[in-house]
Amino acid sequence: MHDSLTKELKRILYWIKPEICFVCNRCVSGCPVAEVHSEYRPNKIVKLAYLGFIDELIQSGIIWYCTQCLKCSERCPMDVHPASVIVALRNIASKKKLPPEAWIKMAKNIYVYGRITPEMGVVSKDRKLIKREDLNLRTPVVSKELIRRLYDETLFPINLGD
Ligand code: SF4
Ligand code: SF4
Repeated sequence: MHDSLTKELKRILYWIKPEICFVCNRCVSGCPVAEVHSEYRPNKIVKLAYLGFIDELIQSGIIWYCTQCLKCSERCPMDVHPASVIVALRNIASKKKLPPEAWIKMAKNIYVYGRITPEMGVVSKDRKLIKREDLNLRTPVVSKELIRRLYDETLFPINLGD
């Protein structure tokens, strides 16, 4: 495992002190993923990371379900930050080239189009394809340099070509 990433996870776990979680489940009740996925529990992910089940967590793929809405961190009365732990776990998984294929595709789209999907447009009543430029809507400006730096720093396994 990448030393600096493991250290980063340990630093976060030290700072948030998962042992003070008293399983009030406020993080779970606010989590949009837990609502649709009975196995998904933000506090359980933190506890498993704290107990050293890093490989199991990153291999299971469950860390990629999180939307990073931050509700778990906002709701927690004990300042346990599941969302931060999940980001650290994702960075470790990225270094091991474990992100799901769909994530790699979305990351590539962000680099190329500035959003997670290419522009699709809408079809009008008279069956014409209408795109943003037809409606004078601004298209996102992509700072490829910044995005490349973000991917580099998170060790996201993506081949951006050029
Ligand atoms: S809200 Fe905080 S204290 Fe409550 S279960 Fe979740 S992590 Fe633990
Ligand atoms: S940040 Fe992730 S784990 Fe936390 S509430 Fe949102 S989806 Fe759930």
